Amino acid sequence: MTKIYDIAVIGGGLAGLTQSILLAQQGWTVICIDRDDPKNQINSDIRTTAISWGSRNLLKNAGVWADMEELAECIRDILILDEDSPVELEFNATDIDAEGFGWIVDNRDLRQVLMSHVAKNKNITHLTGQSVTDFKTQQNSVEVTLQNDETITVQLVIGADGRNSFTRKWMGIQTFKKDYKQSAIVCLINHTKPHNGMALEHFRTQGPFAVLPFTDNRSAVVWTIPGAEANQWTKCSDDVFNAALQTRCGDLYGDVSVQGSRAAWPLNLVKAHKYIGDRMVLVAEAAHGMHPIAGQGLNMSLRDIAALTETLNGASDPGDAALLKQYQSMRRMDNVGMVAATDILNELFGFNFFGVRAARRFGLHAISKIPYAKKFFMKQAMGAVGHLPNLIKKAG
Ligand SMILES: Cc1cc2nc3c(=O)[nH]c(=O)nc-3n(C[C@H](O)[C@H](O)[C@H](O)COP(=O)(O)OP(=O)(O)OC[C@H]3O[C@@H](n4cnc5c(N)ncnc54)[C@H](O)[C@@H]3O)c2cc1C
Repeated sequence: MTKIYDIAVIGGGLAGLTQSILLAQQGWTVICIDRDDPKNQINSDIRTTAISWGSRNLLKNAGVWADMEELAECIRDILILDEDSPVELEFNATDIDAEGFGWIVDNRDLRQVLMSHVAKNKNITHLTGQSVTDFKTQQNSVEVTLQNDETITVQLVIGADGRNSFTRKWMGIQTFKKDYKQSAIVCLINHTKPHNGMALEHFRTQGPFAVLPFTDNRSAVVWTIPGAEANQWTKCSDDVFNAALQTRCGDLYGDVSVQGSRAAWPLNLVKAHKYIGDRMVLVAEAAHGMHPIAGQGLNMSLRDIAALTETLNGASDPGDAALLKQYQSMRRMDNVGMVAATDILNELFGFNFFGVRAARRFGLHAISKIPYAKKFFMKQAMGAVGHLPNLIKKAG
């Protein structure tokens, strides 16, 4: 016999888990379905995420931030370097009276905390180790078929199933895709000098090299390289890797050394042409996946989640077509803008032609000298610019 819930969230990644918690708080009964085993999910994602000020508000509103606070490190300064240019751009959170631009969290910690909140919530059923294999839309409901042939009936399906979203493909939604032919090497590092809450973004022709402050005077590295070099940097010895890191960090961090494992993430762009269908809607990377150059992927996803949560608040039917349309129009411009901005940034800093280099340096210099422009970029880094959902604008 089919089980009945108000809403099915397909995909229990960081986005799907957060979406489930927020909707359950509104009283909806939610089933969050993931094909993967939770232990595997936690162990396999060694990335860190820069949670912006706005995203922290959302996590506070979801009731999960209190459990993350001790595990997160605040970004108080941002230093931007362009290849070997002497022109640098520095942002200090104190200049805009902010506590910080964002907080670096380990994805393993965040996932674990979100899962524990999901487990405690009686409105959420967390089904793992089961793929969704089909949908049947009816006038007032959707039947969701699982890999084991069981079915679930809901009023709304939310696709939070990542860049290769099965839900999106089933809905027949076309995408714009771009393979950057780059990978990001991620790892944690120890260093002898204090990071003092500073995030370094060093734009290099091969791709950006970012060092982000983390707890216990460690930092998180996100090092973009040509895709063909991914094996070389994940398979080499720690000594070889540390020497390469040291060259890239210079003397900013003292002696640096990798802590624990490292991994490579292939980088691409995916943008869905629309987010909605009959009683079905896409959020997060199922709708848009972008380059991590600005650390905005999950932050944009959390804005989707906030917008959808607010749109469904108090509704009698969560699958109502007018509500889904409203959600889509709230989110499309913001997402398209950020996907385009990250793409342009990656292209712009990837060029080493004299003209482009000079224009870039002039741009950085101009931003550093124009207080209004500087303030705008600082607010942007905090996720505090644009038409924001209330759950992002303020906490509590
Ligand atoms: C190197 C790197 C650094 C990054 N740094 C930042 C950062 O600093 N700040 C930031 O905001 N963002 C950052 N991001 C982006 C961020 O990591 C992602 O946006 C986020 O992890 C994606 O979460 P998600 O839940 O949308 O998707 P996913 O994590 O892909 O989750 C999708 C889930 O759906 C499940 N699934 C798929 N198909 C099915 C199916 N048919 N049935 C059931 N389940 C299914 C999968 O098992 C998976 O668990 C970074 C990304 C990269 C690559």
